[in-house]
Amino acid sequence: MKETIGFPRALLYYYYYPAWRAFFESLGQTCEVSGKTTKAVIDSGIKVTVDEACLPVKAFHGHVLSLSGVCDRVFVPRLVSVERKAYICPKLMGLPDMVRHNCKGIRQIIDPCIDMSRNSRAYVRELYATGRLFTRNPLKISVARRKAKQAYDVFVRLLQAGLTPIDAMDRENRCYPNHFQDSGIFNDSVSGRDKDVRSPIIGVLGHPYIIYDSFLGMNVLDRLNLMGARVVTMDMLQRTVVEQAAAKSQKRVFWTIGRQLLGAGYYFLAPGTVDGCLQMSAFACGPDSFIAELLQQESARSRRKVPFMTIVVDEHTGEAGVLTRLEAFMDIVARSMLR
Ligand code: SF4
Repeated sequence: MKETIGFPRALLYYYYYPAWRAFFESLGQTCEVSGKTTKAVIDSGIKVTVDEACLPVKAFHGHVLSLSGVCDRVFVPRLVSVERKAYICPKLMGLPDMVRHNCKGIRQIIDPCIDMSRNSRAYVRELYATGRLFTRNPLKISVARRKAKQAYDVFVRLLQAGLTPIDAMDRENRCYPNHFQDSGIFNDSVSGRDKDVRSPIIGVLGHPYIIYDSFLGMNVLDRLNLMGARVVTMDMLQRTVVEQAAAKSQKRVFWTIGRQLLGAGYYFLAPGTVDGCLQMSAFACGPDSFIAELLQQESARSRRKVPFMTIVVDEHTGEAGVLTRLEAFMDIVARSMLR
């Protein structure tokens, strides 16, 4: 039977929705994504969550509630690990439990446990168990799995060609081979840029569900573009570049996104890559608190300083304050480019 699966436009939707959609659509299901984050969405999430939850988790609850009544089931995966010996934030591991407890009106949740910390066998088992909700034919599930992988690979290539996840999702069904060749940006390094181009390049660090969510991230990417900057995010860098930079850390960070943020931060703070580095962080985020500290230390150690600023957002953050700080930051970047 054809069902409508609801996807909250929050948390790791920004990385995995193309794969999830390909999987469910291949099994004949319809995918429905919640609308963009708004104040009403955040307010409804705040009402049902504990105060200690971080802003992205509160927003996730708001998105789940907004899907109530418009879909048959809501997809809330239990994301434990997406690679060997590394983990996703514990709040994402407990997400289905939180949603079941806090969102009483939600009837059915699809909550596969994604845990690849040891190997991918458990993950494959979960995929088949999820597929069996809609078909008894293992071949169909196998095809759906393959399509999900293909969709994800195309998506990652678009990100590394310089697109944001939002733009990549718009284009993912249209794969232009020339797009990658023509863009030619960021694939190996941003350091090979044309020195005559004086528009500043700003490396923006932050969890995807903050920087790509225009409401939570205060539209910072668009604002920087309007201020004449060219924005590079962690996702536009080659994974090997990020991992090599992250290896500078004395101890391997075992939070996947935290390690990637640290690696991208180290890379951006090295002279000759970007003209300024901006970190967007969520209040009450455990991993962000120490990543910010490590990057501050790195910035202080560096001899040729790359301007670095951290903006912490929560539900009370005002746009005017963020804009003032961004303008001041861009002034410092412009002055440092004259040196
Ligand atoms: S990593 Fe930070 S922002 Fe993301 S869910 Fe965990 S606590 Fe929240």
